[in-house]
Amino acid sequence: MIGEKACVKFDRLVHERSDRALSQKEELFINQHRAICTACAQEEELSFMAFDMLREAVLEADVDSGHFDLRVVRLAKVQQAKESVRYWSPALIGGAVACLAVFASLKLASFDGSVKKTHPPVGQARRVITSFPDLELPNVIHRNP
Ligand SMILES: [Zn+2]
Repeated sequence: MIGEKACVKFDRLVHERSDRALSQKEELFINQHRAICTACAQEEELSFMAFDMLREAVLEADVDSGHFDLRVVRLAKVQQAKESVRYWSPALIGGAVACLAVFASLKLASFDGSVKKTHPPVGQARRVITSFPDLELPNVIHRNP
């Protein structure tokens, strides 16, 4: 009963096995198909190896070896984090874009502020300078006598 349909079903069940408990019938199908279809058996082994390597890499990163309970808790947390990241990733991307926009506008605002801060003294100084000729003090003094 090796056929494309059976291989597809095998592949699906192997992947579903990590998410839910398979029924006895499904387990039996997997075992039977693995025995008769070397391609699927090899693929299952490869994906298991890749998954184990990934899991080991994550677990070895910052948990002492020997603390099996901690490892299990850690794995559960990693799994949860992965799922929540997958769930929230569109929101996270949106949030990151919003943060960048806010950051950019803050940068712009602070840049504008610093320009405005340096301007008033210059303007005042100019006003003082330009207001002197307007007074025309010498003329006033000259006219008086
Ligand atoms: Zn197969």
